[in-house]
Amino acid sequence: MLTLEQAQQKIIAGIRPATLKETVELAEANGRYLAATVIAKVGNPVFDNSAMDGYALNTADIIGDRPVLPLQGESSCGSAPSKLASGTTMRIFTGAPVPEGADAVVIQEDIKREGDTIVLPHSIQAGQNIRRRGEDFHQGDKLYERGRRLHPYDIALLATAGLAEVSVYRRARVLVVATGDELVSPGTPLRPGQIYESNRLATLLQLRNLGIETVDGGTVKDDITALRDMLADSGGYDFVITSGGVSVGDHDLVKQVFAEIGEINFWKAKIKPGKPVAFGHIGERTHFFGLPGNPVSSLVTFKLFVEPALIAWHHCMPQNLILQAKAANDFHRHPGRTQFLRARLFTENGQLLAQVLPGQGSHMVASLRDTNGFIRLEETQSAIRVGDPISVIPLIIGD
Ligand code: AMP
Ligand code: MG
Repeated sequence: MLTLEQAQQKIIAGIRPATLKETVELAEANGRYLAATVIAKVGNPVFDNSAMDGYALNTADIIGDRPVLPLQGESSCGSAPSKLASGTTMRIFTGAPVPEGADAVVIQEDIKREGDTIVLPHSIQAGQNIRRRGEDFHQGDKLYERGRRLHPYDIALLATAGLAEVSVYRRARVLVVATGDELVSPGTPLRPGQIYESNRLATLLQLRNLGIETVDGGTVKDDITALRDMLADSGGYDFVITSGGVSVGDHDLVKQVFAEIGEINFWKAKIKPGKPVAFGHIGERTHFFGLPGNPVSSLVTFKLFVEPALIAWHHCMPQNLILQAKAANDFHRHPGRTQFLRARLFTENGQLLAQVLPGQGSHMVASLRDTNGFIRLEETQSAIRVGDPISVIPLIIGD
């Protein structure tokens, strides 16, 4: 059976990445992946400007212990000031252009106004309170590489650099299907043996958080013909994600249908929860994931396998954020698989701590209420004790 890392490597190696690009306006670019490098159209700052409200002057005019200069003119935001006349000072505001001839700005709190003359401090450094043109970045600088996912702060940077639109990869189109004879939608009364379906909904919403175009394939019975019909046209999607039916029971038919219509790359990984998990391809372009039916297994395998696959499909390198924490309580288990425990991460006296939450069965979802991260136990690890160093994966909500 593949280890977690082997399974993840097989997935990344098996990705057939996006080829189609589109140009979108900045307001539509949030969460999208860049399909080309981005070059600054203008630098930042665009021109030398004042960092403070105050008075612009030339330090060569500052003479004696009580320098005094006549006030002449004003530089305000949004217009070009005239040249600073030699031996004068000019009123200036934050963000306004520094007039030609000036090399410093004195903040208004440090001067004394006497009619039309300004009494200045005797010590003024050339360059003080001036934001230099291009000190942040220059026109023509490369701001982003291809494959970067754009967040609101990136959009702000792109707007500053004068870009109105960017080239991004087309969003992945993903079909999500739940399988199981027992599943009904919330809102329907339960008949004997039935339960409410939750995985498909959670998967669809996680995909939408990643900026993916989703298609809800509904719930299909554990019936070979129904499954074949549902998956027959799946070659038009970039990914097909099913839930349930990938284990070894008599009614676990998803794997069989995938094997008929496509090529299974693997169908098991040495992880807990989530051992029965299938990955493969249908035709040239479609990737499929058969995720396990237990709700927590479905969430964990989505995070470990589906999310990195989708990121890689958009030409971006998936990053695994693993932090070092200390165990806040004891936990014992049978070693053998890499295990992910639902945990509450918190800090105490500057130390990151992780508490194993009660209710770790892969069918138990109540603990998700307090889960803000996973503790990762290595294959050979059988116990953790209070204070032990442990690896944790924070779940960044909203990203
Ligand atoms: P399976 O992987 O099909 O063997 O299902 C494993 C367990 O997960 C069973 O208890 C199923 O009832 C449950 N299950 C399967 N699919 C779903 C789903 N979409 N929503 C909630 N529970 C599910
Ligand atoms: Mg099932």
